[in-house]
Amino acid sequence: MHEYSIVQALLAQVERQAARHGASAVRRLEVRIGELSGVEVDLLKTAYEMMRDRTICDGAPMEVTPVAARWECRACGQAIPQGMALRCAACGSGARLTAGDEIMLDRIELEVADV
Ligand SMILES: [Zn+2]
Repeated sequence: MHEYSIVQALLAQVERQAARHGASAVRRLEVRIGELSGVEVDLLKTAYEMMRDRTICDGAPMEVTPVAARWECRACGQAIPQGMALRCAACGSGARLTAGDEIMLDRIELEVADV
């Protein structure tokens, strides 16, 4: 399933960060998921809860922030409201997506042992 490979990639990213900072554990994760990314947030959470055991994320909750799709004119940059024809009202050019297709690790709270 798609969501499992995404979690696998997220966990690998977290482990690299944790190693770089000498962290012993992860307290919390925050990820941003665009509404057009094709990710089912519920499935992602389920996959994460199954896969975090015995990783550095064991016991750490994952918070998901959904990101709405945003479009703008590719010629003049004017924002184009969703649900409208994806064409600029000002100059008639086509739209391009500026947000909403991301799958991004936003924030990691690490536990670093006091020395
Ligand atoms: Zn335009």
